[in-house]
Amino acid sequence: MENGNLKLALQKKGRLSDRSIELLKHCGLDIETYSERLMVTVRNYNVDLLFLRDDDIPEYVQDGVADIGIVGEDVVYEKQSDIIVSEKLGFGRCRLMIAAPNDNVPEEPSDLKGKTIATSYPNILKKYLAENKIDSKVIEISGSVEIAPSLGVADLICDIVSTGTTLMMNKLKKSFTVFESEAVLISNKWLQEDKEKYAVLNDLLLRIRSVLSAKNSKYLMMNVPKKNLDKVIGLIPSLKSPTILHLADEESLAVHAVIPSEQFWKIIGDLKAAGASGILLFPIENMII
Ligand code: ATP
Ligand code: MG
Repeated sequence: MENGNLKLALQKKGRLSDRSIELLKHCGLDIETYSERLMVTVRNYNVDLLFLRDDDIPEYVQDGVADIGIVGEDVVYEKQSDIIVSEKLGFGRCRLMIAAPNDNVPEEPSDLKGKTIATSYPNILKKYLAENKIDSKVIEISGSVEIAPSLGVADLICDIVSTGTTLMMNKLKKSFTVFESEAVLISNKWLQEDKEKYAVLNDLLLRIRSVLSAKNSKYLMMNVPKKNLDKVIGLIPSLKSPTILHLADEESLAVHAVIPSEQFWKIIGDLKAAGASGILLFPIENMII
C-alpha cells in the first residue's frame, strides 16, 4: 500500500517491542492498539508502522519494503545489510559474550585459538576472530546455543548474556565480551531521494534526540549561600551555564541547572557540604539543544 507515508519497521513481539512503541509515543506519535495487525497508520504523523520479526528488519529496510526500522545492533551487524545506522536509541542494551564450561573458561581472546565455538551470530564472531587474528572454528546454531558444549558439538559458546541464569543451568561461565549492542534506528540508503519521506525522517530524528537527551538530563534547583556560590557552581556538571536568581533572603541565591541524570547522586553530598539547601530535582519532558 503506497500512501506516501514513511514506513517504520518494528519488532512485532519481543524484547524491543514495548520500548520502541514507548519511545515513539514520547515523540508525540498517536499509536493505537498494535498487537494483532501487521501494519498500523499513525493518526497524527505521516508514518505507517510495520510489525515484523526482528531478523527480517535490516533486509526489509535495505530493500525498501520499509524505509526505516528499529532493531538491535547485534541483528544489524549480523545480517550485514546495506543500510544506514541513523541513531542509537539507548535501550535494549545487551552483550554478546564468550562462555565456557566452568572448568575451562578462557581468560583472553588468544585462549580461543583452536577451539570450536557455537553461536547464532557467526558473522559478528568471525569478524571478531579475524580482527584479533585468532584461528577458531565457528559453528552456527539458531537457538539454545548454551547446550552445545554438553552435547559435545562445541568447546565454547558465543551468545547474548543477561543475568547468566541460563548459563549457570548449563554449567557454563561467562568470559569476555565480543560485541555490545543497543537498539538503533536504521534507514534505507536511498531515502534521501524521496524529499517528503526524508523530511519526515529528519523530523522524527529531531524528536527522538530531544526525547533521549531529556531522559538523560534532569533539572536541578537549590538555594545556595552567596558566599559559597563559586564553590557550588564548580560542582555542577551543567550542560549550559547555570541560572542564578535573587531571593528575598539576601544571604542566599537560587541556582538552577540542567545536569546529566547519573551525576546527581555523585554531587549531592558535596552540594550539601557547600551549604546548598532546598535541593529539588525534576524530570525534563523534552529538550531541544
Ligand atoms: P523475533 O521473534 O522478533 O525474531 P527474537 O527472539 O529474535 O525475536 P528477542 O529475544 O526479542 O529476539 O531480542 C531482540 C533484541 O533485543 C536482540 O536482538 C537484542 O538486540 C536485544 N536483546 C536480546 N537479549 C537481551 C537482553 N537480555 N537484554 C536486553 N536486550 C536484549
Ligand atoms: Mg529474531
